[in-house]
Amino acid sequence: STASSNQSFEFREDPSFWKDHNVQVIIRIRPLSNTEISVQGYGKCIRQESCQTITWTGHPESRFTFDIVADENVSQEQLFKVAGLAMVDNCMIGYNSCMFAYGQTGSGKTHTMLGDIEGGTRRHSVNCGMTPRVFEYLFSRIQKEKEAGRDEKLKFVCKCSFLEIYNEQILDLLDPSSNNLQIREDIKKGVYVENLKEVEVTSARDVMQQLIQGAANRKVAATNMNRASSRSHSVFTCIIESKRECQGVTHHRFARLNLVDLAGSERQKSSGAEGERLKEATNINKSLSTLGLVIMNLVNISNGKSLHVPYRDSKLTFLLQDSLGGNSKTIIIANVTPSSCCSLETLSTLKFAQRAKFIKNNAIVNEDASGDVIAMKVQIQQLKKEVSHLR
Ligand code: ADP
Ligand code: MG
Repeated sequence: STASSNQSFEFREDPSFWKDHNVQVIIRIRPLSNTEISVQGYGKCIRQESCQTITWTGHPESRFTFDIVADENVSQEQLFKVAGLAMVDNCMIGYNSCMFAYGQTGSGKTHTMLGDIEGGTRRHSVNCGMTPRVFEYLFSRIQKEKEAGRDEKLKFVCKCSFLEIYNEQILDLLDPSSNNLQIREDIKKGVYVENLKEVEVTSARDVMQQLIQGAANRKVAATNMNRASSRSHSVFTCIIESKRECQGVTHHRFARLNLVDLAGSERQKSSGAEGERLKEATNINKSLSTLGLVIMNLVNISNGKSLHVPYRDSKLTFLLQDSLGGNSKTIIIANVTPSSCCSLETLSTLKFAQRAKFIKNNAIVNEDASGDVIAMKVQIQQLKKEVSHLR
């Protein structure tokens, strides 16, 4: 089946991946699980037509086109090469970047974003996911730039943070004693989480250590609160800053990289739930439904309608507003289960992904020679946005 993967999958490893659009949508189909295979009567609910086209085989049959459709034969490495590589290259230039994994519980979001991290960043772990590969590549690029620019004074600083949004509350996964953190907005800093722990990292190994620690804290939090981690969103952020001194002028560059593993997109059953459980079901719906609404309104705005975008109605969309219709290059990986037992959830994910394709971001390189120009650019964009809402 490895051979067939090469036939059905078109590699686009160069930056032309981003040529037309700052938002890319990838569908990833996971293999049928052993249980799904052993349950008689269940077939597949999707048929891949090409490396960009997929048909949902329910009634009525519907065809969808995306930037990339990655079938079950596409390896972690291939997916990284097609999406992660270009993302890191963009960050090195100074573009904010964001990757979301969307899909129902069990569709492969965590497998895609993290995969098997027990083996650290060992290249040979085939199941090692996007995040470890992204940071291994990032630090190799930084190393190369430093070597190439030996004559200039070149300095890189990378800081990472890791948080979870659950029940509309933000928990610091690198310092779990910190919960219910607040989102703030500042002209210079943009949107940020107040008091969130930031750890400086100088290698992919450093990043892995934080990832593993954060994942462990996430498990503990879920156990203590007696809930599944599939009900929370996790956001791993790395800020990459560089300073280059050249002929007496200091050039600053920075980029924010967000890697997001969303809560399961399946309909939450609130029937029968009471008290905290009901509140939880409502709030999970809130972050994901606000995400849906934000995307819907952005699409309508790009079609000429004047609408308010309710970024602030949920923690998730407030925190990630730059990644949705703002200053960012964004990749959405919509994960689907091929089994016909999940046919309706798969259809719903495909529809979500199709809408997301119409988001138009306005990414600018975060670079200047004084430090203030970027803040002004952001401010101008913000004002433009506000003016367009007033119209
Ligand atoms: P989610 O995070 O969306 O709930 P997971 O990533 O935990 O889903 O995936 C569910 C199961 O399916 C896991 O056992 C995972 O290893 C497996 N899986 C998901 N995607 C793939 C894939 N592309 N190839 C092989 N196994 C996968
Ligand atoms: Mg998961």
